Amino acid sequence: MKTLGYAAQSASSPLAPFHFERRSLRPNDVSIEVLYCGVCHSDLHMARNDWGWSFYPLVPGHEVVGRVTEVGAEVKKYKVGDLVAVGCMVDSCQNCDQCKKGLEQYCREGNTQTYGGRDRITCEPTYGGYSKQLIVREEFALRVPESLDLARVAPLLCAGITTYSPLKAWNAGPGSRVGVVGLGGLGHMAVKLAKGLGADVTVLSRTKAKEVDALKLGASRLLVSSDTDAMAKAKSSFDLIIDTVPVKHDVNPYLPLLDVDATLVLVGQVGPLNEIHTAGLLLGRRRVAGSIIGGIPETQEMLDFCASKGILPDCEMIRMDQIGEAFGRMERADVRYRFVIDMASLAEPKAA
Ligand code: NAP
Ligand code: ZN
Repeated sequence: MKTLGYAAQSASSPLAPFHFERRSLRPNDVSIEVLYCGVCHSDLHMARNDWGWSFYPLVPGHEVVGRVTEVGAEVKKYKVGDLVAVGCMVDSCQNCDQCKKGLEQYCREGNTQTYGGRDRITCEPTYGGYSKQLIVREEFALRVPESLDLARVAPLLCAGITTYSPLKAWNAGPGSRVGVVGLGGLGHMAVKLAKGLGADVTVLSRTKAKEVDALKLGASRLLVSSDTDAMAKAKSSFDLIIDTVPVKHDVNPYLPLLDVDATLVLVGQVGPLNEIHTAGLLLGRRRVAGSIIGGIPETQEMLDFCASKGILPDCEMIRMDQIGEAFGRMERADVRYRFVIDMASLAEPKAA
């Protein structure tokens, strides 16, 4: 199937229209018309090859919402016209202990990423949701609750599940004190979800600029991470801190904020951090952990939870041709709080 998307052709070139082929439908595949696609900071990291494993052309996009346009002969879960969503994975071995537990993100053979990966059968590159169509096996398509505003659902598929999963894994709920470092796409979902789960939430931001927003999103307070007095007063006052900062940074100031046995979970930076001074860990049996997205059953649970609580991201809708500008603003932390591309805006390029 021929389709149109937006691709980076190298680490230094801006995204531009790109024609390519999607695979023919396999018996367990669904074909999806992409309606909306969220813009994750990972899309920018991958387009620029920040992590060193990108290859080109690269069509980003792993926060996808769309409508089923065709189903393979053996598809049971979906029919033409259904609303579905796709996140960061499109396949896994389905056979290992992790896949059997619904933790496909930790598949022993490695999951297949929605873009920038390789198809498990043909080894062809996978291309993401910055495109008109997407084809995935039905197990990796999520059901979108009808009550949710479709234009705002897409960011749940990465920003939502990436923060929901550690909140659940570390038992955030009534009585727990959760800190969120960095109020961006992931951070603002962490605030809404932690609040929805019943926790008391604090945003840790570099400046006071987002204080009003933080309170509106559901936080009880905003703590300025560069304010050493305020940070000292917050000593031992968190059960869980979720750190969404997208670059190398210093976690040492956050460690004393953890109570005894509490955990700081890294979900942002992939790569080195500033050196950790172990005193912050020893003096409180504190832990530093990491977490990546979430499994398919947990992603469905998160979507249903958001529907039951009316939780949706705060979105700024953009056209596909505004993606360069959106990447620039995301890099300057000038997004409140997630860009979503209206895929109807992706038109055939005009002949020169
Ligand atoms: P984002 O919307 O750009 O938000 C990041 C936030 O971090 C910013 O709003 C800012 O918050 C803070 N920040 C930015 N630059 C900073 C710096 N130099 N030092 C300290 N703080 C800084 O990004 P996102 O989409 O939420 O993604 C965040 C990170 O998570 C990215 O690295 C992305 O690749 C990663 N990610 C991981 C997973 C996973 O599965 N683990 C999934 C998706 C994304 P303040 O202005 O409030 O300080
Ligand atoms: Zn993402």
